[in-house]
Amino acid sequence: MKKEKTLEKEFWKKKPLHKLNKREWEALCAHCGRCCLNKYSAGGLTIFINTYCRHLSPSDGTCRIYNRRLQNAGCVKVDMQLIRTQPDLLPDDCAYKLLAQGQDLPAWHPLVSGNPETVHLAGKSVRSLPVCSEDCVFAHPEQCLFTTQKR
Ligand code: SF4
Ligand code: SF4
Repeated sequence: MKKEKTLEKEFWKKKPLHKLNKREWEALCAHCGRCCLNKYSAGGLTIFINTYCRHLSPSDGTCRIYNRRLQNAGCVKVDMQLIRTQPDLLPDDCAYKLLAQGQDLPAWHPLVSGNPETVHLAGKSVRSLPVCSEDCVFAHPEQCLFTTQKR
């Protein structure tokens, strides 16, 4: 069996984002699931609401159809192009966005803590989100607001 190479310690501090290999790139995702929240644009803002893509597993922030996710309408590939052109589709403390802005990863990021649970324990993931129904969003949109980002 082919043995997977372990990731180099603090690899994200040693090379720029665009030079990371596929494994390093994937490891940067904290699985917060917040980029899979439903969102819409209004008045120069991207508005994230408390409903999420039906393919998201909220308990661990993973995508159930990851290898075919881009066939899903509304799913976007998180890559350098997206980070450069549509950063508002990611929360401000998404690892890719932080590194692209020259910042470090937060203490709750699993790569820093060594524990995949810390993103959930810090309340940064969709696991603890009060999920709204479509009816609720329709009736009380302001109560279903998760966050807004400038576009
Ligand atoms: S917002 Fe960033 S860290 Fe969170 S799931 Fe999406 S890509 Fe991963
Ligand atoms: S299909 Fe896309 S938006 Fe839906 S859960 Fe998967 S990665 Fe997130």
